[in-house]
Amino acid sequence: MKEDRELLSKYFPEQAVEAVYTSLKEKNVQLRISRSRSTKLGDYRPGMNGKPHRISINHDLNIFEFLITYVHELAHLYTFEKFGRRHQPHGKEWKQFFVQLMIPFLNNGVFPAEIQQELQVHLLDAKAANGSDLDLKRILQKYNHKQNLTATSVESLSENSYFKLPDGRVFQRLELRRKRYKCLCMNNKRLYLFSPLAMVEVCDRFEPNQFLHLLKKLG
Ligand SMILES: [Zn+2]
Repeated sequence: MKEDRELLSKYFPEQAVEAVYTSLKEKNVQLRISRSRSTKLGDYRPGMNGKPHRISINHDLNIFEFLITYVHELAHLYTFEKFGRRHQPHGKEWKQFFVQLMIPFLNNGVFPAEIQQELQVHLLDAKAANGSDLDLKRILQKYNHKQNLTATSVESLSENSYFKLPDGRVFQRLELRRKRYKCLCMNNKRLYLFSPLAMVEVCDRFEPNQFLHLLKKLG
């Protein structure tokens, strides 16, 4: 239906809408636009006993990440149809479908060149699933227009600088440890590990002493 396509074009790149629409109908999928979840970008639940399959995707992904996540979840559907539960969640069976379903989008120029390039590398890598590949994620992040202006990634902060989370906690960014940054929480003096791509708010005028004083006052 026309309305369905219009809704889809709010979330997907324009050149992908028709193909997405067709796949939703063909496989009887209920697509749910979800609130933002920090633990996952989307998920898939098999349709049992005549019920539709369900795919949910976080509402705040940019159109390219939205499409990649959709194809990721759709690949779970195909894998489930063919193998049931007898497969690894992101194993070779899933990967094959992921690549196969992504190819039409790579061929019709849906993605900007830099995403396309990184995506091809990503598809050749047998292990990588969407969300675990930092290079791809980094490029996709550049297309997040809705991003808060003062928001920045942990990796782009300078060492020992301070940043704030939406819940008000303040952290000091310390050194990189393996693939994550050690950060000291100024509220409880505990160490935490942050992904280099975690988006945070810079506190460029933060004075540690002032903050400790405040903490004391709060008891
Ligand atoms: Zn998955």
